[in-house]
Amino acid sequence: MYLESLSLTNFRNYVSLELSMGPGTFILWGDNAQGKSNLLEAVYLLATTKSARASNERELIGWGAMEDPLPAARVAGELSREGERTRLDVGLVAERAEGAAEVSYSLRKQTRVNGVPRRASDVMGTLNAVMFDPQDVDLVTGPPSSRRRYLDVTISQMNRDYLKALQRYTRILTQRNHLLRAIREGTSQSSQLRVWDAPLIEEAVHIHCTRRRMLEEMSQASAVIYGELVESGESFALTYLPNPKELSEIGVEEGSAVGEVIRARLSANMNREIGQGVTVVGPHRDDLRFDVRGRDANLYGSRGQQRTVVVALKLAEVEMLKANTGEDPILLLDDILSELDETRRRRVLETVLGSEQAILTTTDLDRIDEEVRSRARLIRVEGGRLVF
Ligand code: ATP
Ligand code: MG
Repeated sequence: MYLESLSLTNFRNYVSLELSMGPGTFILWGDNAQGKSNLLEAVYLLATTKSARASNERELIGWGAMEDPLPAARVAGELSREGERTRLDVGLVAERAEGAAEVSYSLRKQTRVNGVPRRASDVMGTLNAVMFDPQDVDLVTGPPSSRRRYLDVTISQMNRDYLKALQRYTRILTQRNHLLRAIREGTSQSSQLRVWDAPLIEEAVHIHCTRRRMLEEMSQASAVIYGELVESGESFALTYLPNPKELSEIGVEEGSAVGEVIRARLSANMNREIGQGVTVVGPHRDDLRFDVRGRDANLYGSRGQQRTVVVALKLAEVEMLKANTGEDPILLLDDILSELDETRRRRVLETVLGSEQAILTTTDLDRIDEEVRSRARLIRVEGGRLVF
């Protein structure tokens, strides 16, 4: 799949941009702080309806537009997928909250497919993209939540049912946590927990089993790719650390056994959960571990090994998206080539050149191999404008 065109309005430092694209490799080059990463972020937003880096999506609205009566940003793209065109757009509107002493905003996001408003969960998987970003090393060194987020975005791009299950699970969890606190404060009875446990377990089983299946595929693919990225023959293993951990011992096809284990752990932890006012059992506490040469790469890996783990995971994700959707995802590489040594760079570039569409950024064109440069379209980025 590839973008035929991309258009941005008041998105980050782009006041207005119309870019006609098409298949192939694009290199965005320019000095620091000109808008290279912002453009990749916009494509990623079309893929996932979320920003890859903003913690508050209001940050995406151009500063100049914040003075408008109704500050708004828009990202739109025309996608070509199996010869069919789809228009995608994400609009963000910041509404000033009334009466607040300090100016505060609430953000409204609207996603459309071919002009028709759609929920985020229905848009996911229309445009698939894989982002390679130097900050991805957080995946190895960051908190478990960053690994779960990665897992969720990756699976959601191939499996919409998963995202829906995840959304239902999160809603149930919030309500169950409210109830736990009410029980702690004596305003509700612990017998009421039963109402939430059945639906909670159902979604937890769905999430756990989908993560398991996908991680089995992912761990095989990433181990092979890791081997291709390093010459030393050092081993790599990706392990799923489910919550509750007893689930590792159950076969993936045994959905009912999975449910039983979760139910048993929930009842064993009931008093603890009431005491803490939160649900401590379930896939919202899952984690992953990455071992290089049999040792946890988070604790023992060198920076280079950690980076290699991330590159192997991302390349595995590209392969899995292809295998599961029959389509090439769009590759977004944010200034990563200069960080990789020759062997790793070769392997990444092979994937780039073999993909239908890739967008690379760099501050220095000389750092990009001649072979790639000669086959790419070069676009200079200067202060939120593109220069050809
Ligand atoms: P680098 O090479 O340093 O990574 P870059 O070209 O990738 O640079 P971007 O991250 O795309 O740079 O950011 C470009 C500029 O956009 C920065 O100066 C940043 O401050 C600015 N910017 C970020 N958010 C907004 C916003 N909401 N409105 C206007 N400008 C913004
Ligand atoms: Mg950047």
